[in-house]
Amino acid sequence: MNVLLIGSGGREHALAWKLAQSPGLHSLFAAPGNPGIAAHAQVVALDVTDHAAVVAFAGEQAIGLVVIGPEAPLVDGLADSLRAAGVAVFGPSAAAAQLEGSKSFTKALCDRAGIPTAGYARVTSLEEGLAALDRFGIPVVVKADGLAAGKGVTVAETRAAAEAALRDLFAAPGGEAVIEEFLEGEEVSLFVLTDGTAILPFGTAQDHKRVGDGDTGPNTGGMGAYSPATVLTPELEQRALDEIIWPTVRTLAAEGNPFSGVLYAGLMLTAQGPKLIEYNARFGDPECQVLMVRLEDDLLDVMLAVAEGRLGERGAARFAEATALTVVLAARGYPGTPEAGGAIAGLDAAEVTGARVFQAGTRIEEGALVAAGGRVLAVTATGADVRAAQGAAYAAVDALDFASGFCRRDIGWREVARAG
Ligand code: AMP
Repeated sequence: MNVLLIGSGGREHALAWKLAQSPGLHSLFAAPGNPGIAAHAQVVALDVTDHAAVVAFAGEQAIGLVVIGPEAPLVDGLADSLRAAGVAVFGPSAAAAQLEGSKSFTKALCDRAGIPTAGYARVTSLEEGLAALDRFGIPVVVKADGLAAGKGVTVAETRAAAEAALRDLFAAPGGEAVIEEFLEGEEVSLFVLTDGTAILPFGTAQDHKRVGDGDTGPNTGGMGAYSPATVLTPELEQRALDEIIWPTVRTLAAEGNPFSGVLYAGLMLTAQGPKLIEYNARFGDPECQVLMVRLEDDLLDVMLAVAEGRLGERGAARFAEATALTVVLAARGYPGTPEAGGAIAGLDAAEVTGARVFQAGTRIEEGALVAAGGRVLAVTATGADVRAAQGAAYAAVDALDFASGFCRRDIGWREVARAG
């Protein structure tokens, strides 16, 4: 089978690497891809916002499955355009991708389906927002509605900070915001594949959103992750499936808006049990990297089962017992303005230990690999436990030569602390 992978990040490099191992794969294409993905796929210069061009390419190359990595093309309806043309797709419709694209859509769904989540108010003006703050304690969370690449959220420790966040959001006309009760607990990510009817739990992970060690500094797209996250015990995972995932899948299907693809639930483990913080309609980046190095199943096979509505015929997904851990190397300046063009070398030395260096913001310049984005590499290793995985990942980081890059040095610290 020929497969087209949409995306250009570390997540898509990991998906390409794993898809390339599928016995059923004939040719893998990627758009727009990156130099790392090009080792596993034929990179094609397709404008993925031009749906007609993607549909035409799928026809020309007899593509049997399109895998959509990032959220933007999902929210933009690329899966709908492909399905309308009879092309099988791994990824939800635009209507179902509102789970990620619209915080108010997800909050309203939680109300209808009785899903545990933070109490909230949806506001459409600054005045309404300021008045609504009176109903919440401090800290309080202020979120922009819509896709914000993880950067549209303020956890306000004071009333003044909450007011400033609201003023910011309503500085331009037409804004919409969600004010939320602050949830206390540890965060964890749960991944579940669904074809709209059946579900297949697909691993747990914990990411590290802040740029600095000790979870300090501004939020980023993610500086590292590990899997599995044992804080989500089998009992808590079952509760999350029963109380959050199933009601979501069933309610959307009953309303004629089934979700097909990967549901990535950001959960807060509160004293009352797991509560939903947010949904994403695709794999996390860099969580995908740690899931893929642990996955023992044939990725193409399971993605096809999702796309074709056959997930109910499958048994549980198989993941290695090992812990996987990934460290993101970002370009200096990130998450502000990253320095472009920094030289990257030593990939072979880093991988000699069995670690994998997934590429995100890279490009080839005069035959050499250079940085071309904020998050540049995701250095991923496995080990018998989190300490071993952490040691292996940082050994690989240290074998790399990327002078204008930086990383956190404490990825996995919660799990290391738990391990004692
Ligand atoms: P989101 O984009 O909704 O995932 O929010 C980004 C981050 O803000 C989350 O990963 C949490 O760390 C934090 N956050 C969001 N909502 C809440 C909440 N209700 N209580 C506590 N922290 C939150």
